[in-house]
Amino acid sequence: MALVNEHFLKLPNNYLFADIAKKVNAFKVSHPNADVISLGIGDVTQPLCPAVAEAMHKAVDEMTTPEGFHGYGPEQGYMFLREAIVKNDFLPRGIHLDPSEIFVNDGAKSDTGNIQELVRWDNSIGVTDPIYPVYIDSNVMIGRAGVVENGKWSNVTYLPCTAENGFVPQIPDRRVDIIYLCYPNNPTGTVISKEELRKWVNYALKNDTLIFYDAAYEAYIQDPDIPHSIYEIKGAKKVAIEFHSYSKTAGFTGVRCGYTVVPKEVTASTLDGKRIALNELWNRRQCTKFNGTSYISQRAAEAIYTPEGKKQVKKTISYYMDNAKNMRDTLSSLGLDVFGGENAPYIWLKVPNGEDCWRFFEQMLYNAHVVCTPGVGFGPSGEGYIRLTAFGSRESCTEAMERLKKWI
Ligand SMILES: *Cc1c(COP(=O)(O)O)cnc(C)c1O
Repeated sequence: MALVNEHFLKLPNNYLFADIAKKVNAFKVSHPNADVISLGIGDVTQPLCPAVAEAMHKAVDEMTTPEGFHGYGPEQGYMFLREAIVKNDFLPRGIHLDPSEIFVNDGAKSDTGNIQELVRWDNSIGVTDPIYPVYIDSNVMIGRAGVVENGKWSNVTYLPCTAENGFVPQIPDRRVDIIYLCYPNNPTGTVISKEELRKWVNYALKNDTLIFYDAAYEAYIQDPDIPHSIYEIKGAKKVAIEFHSYSKTAGFTGVRCGYTVVPKEVTASTLDGKRIALNELWNRRQCTKFNGTSYISQRAAEAIYTPEGKKQVKKTISYYMDNAKNMRDTLSSLGLDVFGGENAPYIWLKVPNGEDCWRFFEQMLYNAHVVCTPGVGFGPSGEGYIRLTAFGSRESCTEAMERLKKWI
């Protein structure tokens, strides 16, 4: 008899975006002529930039010749891309990494979910709350999160990020083995200062904590003082693994490519106190379970680092950030409490009059025909907030703001 992994059965049945889709569909059935604008789901809308498209075409042409054909590539990624990453994403910030510390992947979701395989099932974990659901759910699947009690997992330490604490998570007053941080943050759109991040690195060094740092939105940072990588902080290479993605940077949500940084210095302990290098372990894991990202996707990613690629990608990011500014300005002028949207493509809005977020979601849908994401879908501290994304087209974003002005 095959016994099922019952930890999967503990996962909440209702996936947030499925719930939203259901409610939107119900609305569309009763309002067949309504033109609904979605500022809900976090997918991008602007097409691939020309430099990327050109590189992909070229890679496909190469693949059609016997000399240029590429079959299985290195599990860790092609050296041309790993070198471009080291040279462009880290060196200019004074961070020295070796290409062997870079693992190219098919997007950050896979690795932010998979990375927990490297640590024992009985480690304690801590997350900022609200949070990208992958971090917790992947731990639930392996039995590390415990059981749900009052909307929280019993073995997870929640670090609330709310307007009250300025979205700065409090350093835990006890030891937590593993901490997930995501900055710029999805869903709140807020960022962490170097000073605050330094506190986390120092906490990790002192408590032998491992930090999983998700930097999927670093390309959206506008303020020069905000760190793009946790390795900008001294000592972080000993305690942190970092995740990057080209999805939001360059519209790769459908192309699929990202990378994980596992420095040679980062270690975890065996029960009898021996230190094990996680770089070797992750390499072993990848070689067993992963056969590499497609050559075409990796050539596409490499093109982002060319002068034209950089310029073109920056233009698309500015486009989204102009949307974010428009949204921030409009919502603030309506007297609402608006967070994020300055160094991230997300706006985190406090629901007025202390209403609950699902109710506000429905009111916005029925009165303005605009879809948002209820904050509680990202964790208990998300109640009382909704998320809006700046990933729409200029026209739909502007139109949505006009409707919200009329409604509110
Ligand atoms: C979108 C996103 C990712 C990246 O996902 P991909 O698998 O690279 O498309 C990672 N982390 C967060 C927080 C995200 O919002």
